[in-house]
Amino acid sequence: LFQVFQLGLQGIKAHVIDALPHAGGQCAELYGDKPIYDIPGIPVCTGQELVERLLAQIKPFAPDWHLGQQVSQLAAQPDGRWLLATTQRTHLLARSVFIAAGVGAFVPRTLKVEGISAFEGSQVHYHHSGPTAGQHVVVHGGDEPAVARAITLATALQQLQPDAPASVTLLHRRDVFDAPADLLAQLQSLKASAALHIVAGQITHLHAAPGPLGPPQLTALQLALPDGSTHTLPLDTLEAYLGISPRLGPVAEWGLAMDKKQLQVDPATFATSAPGIYAVGDINTYPGKRKLILCAFHEATLAAYSAAEAISGQKITVQYTTTSPRLQQLLGVLPAATPSPASP
Ligand SMILES: Cc1cc2nc3c(=O)[nH]c(=O)nc-3n(C[C@H](O)[C@H](O)[C@H](O)COP(=O)(O)OP(=O)(O)OC[C@H]3O[C@@H](n4cnc5c(N)ncnc54)[C@H](O)[C@@H]3O)c2cc1C
Repeated sequence: LFQVFQLGLQGIKAHVIDALPHAGGQCAELYGDKPIYDIPGIPVCTGQELVERLLAQIKPFAPDWHLGQQVSQLAAQPDGRWLLATTQRTHLLARSVFIAAGVGAFVPRTLKVEGISAFEGSQVHYHHSGPTAGQHVVVHGGDEPAVARAITLATALQQLQPDAPASVTLLHRRDVFDAPADLLAQLQSLKASAALHIVAGQITHLHAAPGPLGPPQLTALQLALPDGSTHTLPLDTLEAYLGISPRLGPVAEWGLAMDKKQLQVDPATFATSAPGIYAVGDINTYPGKRKLILCAFHEATLAAYSAAEAISGQKITVQYTTTSPRLQQLLGVLPAATPSPASP
């Protein structure tokens, strides 16, 4: 996010791509509610607060967002630009690419049950599935995202909302959930009112039947229960929240010089071994590298200067946001300059 800010100060517009459905990387995903004490000028803020402050800071530069998609390809073009492609078939042509890929793309852990891939994206989801009106929904998982989702769906059912599902079952391998106390209390109250069923068990295999239009439909989950018995759980939709795991994935396949799982960069410019491609944050390595947010801010600043010089072919001198009318125009705190009548 700070890379977007520094590029904005150089007058360069950015597109942001992340495998997560929201901005913020590790700060948002791994420790959103935990305190950070070593951001200059901010004695303490949570991971999520830092993300929100950065989002507010980059607002004037209005980046284009491409969330919930993984960068899968990065290919050099004859004109020196890079063609980037994502898993959602977004294609972007860019003169500069900034890889801030951390420890890899955060992608949801998937269920390892034979035949499940045939239903992924249709009846099996690793995120909110969309409208669930009138459906028998099974939410799978034991942490806060699963508990919160089951509560949302069961509350809609209890309140007889028009978009409510027909039934909600929270499935976890044991009848113990890891979520804040207020959510656990709501869970118990919805269970007591029969708006929500809780089942402890593990999925062993799937039941499917021919669908009305041809492709098979998932009809039920076969479960192994803690007492050793089996149980068949009918359903229309399965939403599984099994956590996320970082996957370095394609970054390692783009032919860039690497040291173990990090991209080698020049610490003066944060350029990788390929012209026009920069790497900042936890993904890079150079002598003295420290994986700290503060260091990544510095890296993003020098990478933006370096890219601006490469694009313009000119030396870029430092300007201060305090005193530079140009930077203040870019930031939107001064009105944009109107060209003088003499200028072309
Ligand atoms: C529990 C914990 C506490 C921490 N506390 C502090 C602290 O107090 N102070 C501090 O300075 N640092 C702290 N850190 C470290 C800090 O969070 C990292 O240094 C920082 O998040 C690195 O930022 P980044 O942008 O390089 O990568 P990340 O935050 O890892 O973000 C990388 C993003 O890139 C995405 N991505 C990767 N590959 C792809 C791809 N191919 N396509 C699409 N998206 C992709 C990922 O989904 C991810 O969202 C902490 C880390 C942890 C885990």
